[in-house]
Amino acid sequence: MRFGIIAVLAIALAWPAAASASKERKVMVARSRTNVATPQLGADEAARQDSTKIVRSEAGWRRLLTPEQFRILRGADTELACSGKYWKEHRRGIYRCAACGYDLFSSDGKFESGTGWPSFWRPILASHLEVVTDTSFGMVREEVRCARCGSHLGHVFDDGPKPTGQRYCMNSEALTFVEVKK
Ligand code: FE
Repeated sequence: MRFGIIAVLAIALAWPAAASASKERKVMVARSRTNVATPQLGADEAARQDSTKIVRSEAGWRRLLTPEQFRILRGADTELACSGKYWKEHRRGIYRCAACGYDLFSSDGKFESGTGWPSFWRPILASHLEVVTDTSFGMVREEVRCARCGSHLGHVFDDGPKPTGQRYCMNSEALTFVEVKK
């Protein structure tokens, strides 16, 4: 009887860890073809940022983020189309991770996708993003996360403009825009 209880407990404890490990194995750095040769605003500064992983408890993230940011960045939710603050943003500047400040995108890589979400055809540096296969809602999509803090940012699709053909469809709530004056 005691063995049975221990076995059930062991399976219950191991199951979430095993499920999480299988998902994490699919993590890959954003595809290298997004690193096109043309210079990009903020690329040198981004390359100098500390890439040390940031790990925080759920309570820690809740203290740091607004409820809406927490829902999207840490809960992998999506804001309503045309509701965010950056889908119509056209100023020159840098888009940082709203959770940790890592430089992710610049106005040089932004384009008008017509979707109602801020959209980019390339990140500042591919190494600042992680792409994970997401099978939620019965779809197979590529989820984009901040490579430094692991926060959910949005998804990437293969129907973007040339030269990368990528469309990084981001949540405004996951980003902090910093204007760069010429
Ligand atoms: Fe981050």
